[in-house]
Amino acid sequence: MLIDARGLDRYPNFDCDLCIVGAGICGLALADELRAAHLSIVLLESGGINYELPTQALYRGEQEGQAYFRLDGCRWRMFGGSSNRWGGWCRPLDEIDFERRPWLEHSGWPIEAKALEPYEGRAAELLELADPRFELEAWRHRLPAPLPLEGTQFENILIQHSPETNFAERYGRRVCAAANITVLLHANLIALKLAPLSSRVSELKVATLTGRHFSVCPRAVVLATGGIENARLLLASQADRGAGLGNEFDQVGRYFMEHLHMPFGHVLLRPGVGDNRFYRRTRLLDAQVRGVIKPTASAQSAAQRLAASFALENASFFQGTPFLGWPPRLLYAPVVGYHGLRRARLAPLANALKHALQRVHSVPTRVRTWRRARAAHARGRARGPVYSLYVRAEQAPHPANRVTLSAQRDELGVPLSRLQWRIQPLDSQSVTGWLGALDRDLRASGLGHAEAPPENWTESIVGGPHHMGTTRMSREPRTGVVDADCRVHSVSNLYLAGSSLFTTSGHANPTFTILTLALRLARTLRTLLEH
Ligand SMILES: Cc1cc2nc3c(=O)[nH]c(=O)nc-3n(C[C@H](O)[C@H](O)[C@H](O)COP(=O)(O)OP(=O)(O)OC[C@H]3O[C@@H](n4cnc5c(N)ncnc54)[C@H](O)[C@@H]3O)c2cc1C
Repeated sequence: MLIDARGLDRYPNFDCDLCIVGAGICGLALADELRAAHLSIVLLESGGINYELPTQALYRGEQEGQAYFRLDGCRWRMFGGSSNRWGGWCRPLDEIDFERRPWLEHSGWPIEAKALEPYEGRAAELLELADPRFELEAWRHRLPAPLPLEGTQFENILIQHSPETNFAERYGRRVCAAANITVLLHANLIALKLAPLSSRVSELKVATLTGRHFSVCPRAVVLATGGIENARLLLASQADRGAGLGNEFDQVGRYFMEHLHMPFGHVLLRPGVGDNRFYRRTRLLDAQVRGVIKPTASAQSAAQRLAASFALENASFFQGTPFLGWPPRLLYAPVVGYHGLRRARLAPLANALKHALQRVHSVPTRVRTWRRARAAHARGRARGPVYSLYVRAEQAPHPANRVTLSAQRDELGVPLSRLQWRIQPLDSQSVTGWLGALDRDLRASGLGHAEAPPENWTESIVGGPHHMGTTRMSREPRTGVVDADCRVHSVSNLYLAGSSLFTTSGHANPTFTILTLALRLARTLRTLLEH
């Protein structure tokens, strides 16, 4: 059942087995997975079906440190969450990303990569990937040849592109139609309350922007409100525990991580050794894939550097996601127009217009990159092809990079988030170290060489935008917020979903891993609550 919370005259009693907060990628995947469960479920979503400025303004926030997107311009507060705008890059985290790396403080998840493997098939299905396999061997015969990197510290790996699955469009209808699920739109969680003298959440305080207030009383709760908002809501729930829920050891909000995305120098290949076709998006009959170059796990351990991947792009490649971080007011008309066309079943036209706008928006960047590549070509006196390197790098979990509460409040009285984010020395040394290693290895194997970016390269760092780590998974309550089952250590019926759980982030885009974690959580909840 789908209900607009603003229109209810009298609020029924929202007692239920499970309340999922947030109908983004995680919330909708969880609800979809539990459609057949013998559980009554309430799914609370702050937004409506459309992009609305007053709701989007609830995502405002303050920032300090490295330049970053406006917080209300890099996530989407509406049914479907950021799947209304995401880029579709998919790859699971690597084994090494879960391990404790002795040289990397605060590393080591309480689960291994193989705990998520059983959920990869279903995650791939939800993301509309044709094949859940990411091993290069499974695809090699269908793709152009990559650069021969055998004997170097690097390997070629595969990224799959989801058709930017919009979870609201794809799964929203069947979730709303499920007999056991009530979806409440325009329903904002503003605080969680514990039962007296207990460690159980007994009440969720909910408000609409039209001034209505009501409660949901579930047996268990999942917060799936995104990587910044999960922390904000725990910190803002101070009625029972002054520092916020789950925050006994001052862990909530800390260890914020982004992926460092940026243009990062060039590769100049020797004539005849190969080209970059493997590294560009290849459209196969049933899939879209591309290769990237990444350091092997053993090279990473030996060099004590963070993970990273390098894409070899044509000089005319557009670096970055257009319009990201723009004030919502400026984006309003194009976003509403885009969704309107899609709903009128004119998705190809909507996408063609979106891509045309992106191309126009990217002209200055393309010209700049092309000029740099031409200069690199001239300096390198090479006659072979020159490609732009685009790096996607891991950031170390650092407690000073964090989300806290601002003194300012939103329209519903909830303190705004305040993001403090800085690039740490290990973050920048890792990427420059890998570029140096790539240069040496390309020279030694006779393939060419790599050229460093301008000295002020840190100014071109952008994020995914991937908001990770703020309610990290840990073995002990002293070192994180949730346990291996995604349950808040100190609250017996409160679970979290999303990239706020990431203990470390690897280089891969987060959504594939987010989904495997959410599907695993769905199984845990079913076992717990159905019996
Ligand atoms: C432009 C862009 C490009 C991206 N590209 C990629 C990519 O290529 N690959 C990749 O892996 N990832 C990508 N991402 C990241 C990806 O979108 C996120 O990882 C994913 O959306 C996270 O899902 P989620 O359900 O945790 O959060 P979200 O999708 O953000 O959903 C959170 C939901 O919670 C709701 N909500 C928030 N607060 C409340 C509240 N108080 N009460 C009720 N509801 C609330 C929101 O309205 C929203 O619907 C991209 C993101 C953006 C913005």
